[in-house]
Amino acid sequence: MAGTIENYPGFPGGISGPELIERFKKQLSEIGVPLTEFVKVEGVLEKEGSFIVKTTQGDVEAKCLIIATGAQPARLGVPGEDKFIGQGVSFCAYCDGFFFRDKKVAVIGGGDRAVEEALYLKNLAKEVYLIHRRDRLRAQKVLQERLFESENIKTIWNSVVTEIKGDQSGVKALEIMDLNTGKRSLLEIDGVFVAVGQQPSSEIFRDLVEMDEKGFIKTDLKGATSKAGIFAAGDVRVKELRQVSTAVGDGALAAWAAVEYLQET
Ligand code: NAP
Repeated sequence: MAGTIENYPGFPGGISGPELIERFKKQLSEIGVPLTEFVKVEGVLEKEGSFIVKTTQGDVEAKCLIIATGAQPARLGVPGEDKFIGQGVSFCAYCDGFFFRDKKVAVIGGGDRAVEEALYLKNLAKEVYLIHRRDRLRAQKVLQERLFESENIKTIWNSVVTEIKGDQSGVKALEIMDLNTGKRSLLEIDGVFVAVGQQPSSEIFRDLVEMDEKGFIKTDLKGATSKAGIFAAGDVRVKELRQVSTAVGDGALAAWAAVEYLQET
């Protein structure tokens, strides 16, 4: 979930992710677009020029599909990560940050999300450590400037977390390895926010459309996938820049291309 979105046009001062979604829904309802059935899709089958979408509430047949299933936080894959989810390990500072008021927390990663989460947490937690595996962040410059100005955020460079340690009450410390020296040390913390990138929510489409090695769906400029009649938009597809503004553009293009496809078939 996004906290304050500052790089979507039309909202000087920024807008929260949930509020932006509410506004999208209101606008759709004002122009009469029927919204949305919330059902879980379990798979898609092909059937004589159309598709059968298997959902938890039965099958839906469609001639054309737009996949916009997004991406979810990637895991670090170190001991303790799974064990302490909900007990000090989190993948969303905006969702769980308030549990760590006046505590010591760490954020792992060096991208936009990690830096945004550290900046959000600095107003709640006593101390924030940003742990990054290189000596340079990949986050946007404006975020980096805010990070380096923040007195209660300390960046630990060239380091990876090798284990998340804790007891019955939850996370207590991180084992950190300095990649330059190979030396391991313990950092005592109360919570850790993992922000090491995204993995696409695309597994159920694996046999239908072409993907890259990470599972992001390959499309052309109109959002068309390798399978005629299936389009993909937003974070789930292979792209350079994953932001709300680019997702909105993807959605518009894919919808337009889908209508064109339906008219031609
Ligand atoms: P990201 O840009 O892919 O960054 C992931 C970070 O995690 C990188 O710094 C990477 O290190 C590090 N990393 C990856 N695997 C790791 C591992 N196993 N151990 C330690 N560190 C690891 O992911 P993101 O920050 O989640 O952002 C995803 C996309 O959403 C990006 O396109 C981003 O621009 C976008 N986004 C935009 C905004 C915004 O516009 N405000 C906000 C949030 C996200 P390296 O740098 O060494 O590769």
